Amino acid sequence: MFTKVVLPYSFAALEPFIDQATMEVHYGKHHEGYTSKLNEAVSGTDMDGKSIEEILMNLDESNTAVRNNGGGFYNHNLFFSQLFLNEGGSPTGNLADAINSKFGSFETFKEAFNKAATTRFGSGWAWLIANSSGELEICSTPNQDNPLMPFAETKGTPILGLDVWEHAYYLHYQNRRAEYVENFWNIINWEVVGRRFEQAK
Ligand code: MN
Repeated sequence: MFTKVVLPYSFAALEPFIDQATMEVHYGKHHEGYTSKLNEAVSGTDMDGKSIEEILMNLDESNTAVRNNGGGFYNHNLFFSQLFLNEGGSPTGNLADAINSKFGSFETFKEAFNKAATTRFGSGWAWLIANSSGELEICSTPNQDNPLMPFAETKGTPILGLDVWEHAYYLHYQNRRAEYVENFWNIINWEVVGRRFEQAK
């Protein structure tokens, strides 16, 4: 059985950047839906008992139930577990070095990531990934797809993910996705993201 990540913070902890009402619906309803539908979809199949990473990395593109709900489950567990009010924090250690060497600076990296997030048409995600050579790349995916899936345009291990579905921001920001994306930088737990980078390398 797949279960939602337990939040190490309260629904109000990310205010004013993500409001409590959005957290209640997003974590409590949307993420709940992906998780229970994923459990239904894998139950009794040969995917039962496998890790979500293994399932997604071997996924058949036409398996829409697992593509949508397995992607949704993985993406939201990753998203919610990397959040925390960081009070202007930024990456440190190997991740900071890798960002600087790949993008030139943290500021340039942020601009490129923001562009991926704001230009994704409709629903989807923006990602920072480590590719198979351990190198950082920015990309985006539609709907609940992610870079683990074999048919993704850019493949790799997600390090940082931003949900740009309207359900992630509409209550507070309405149509102002760019403002939501800009505020994302205030609520990233760089310790968690740095650990993912170490594990992915
Ligand atoms: Mn979402």
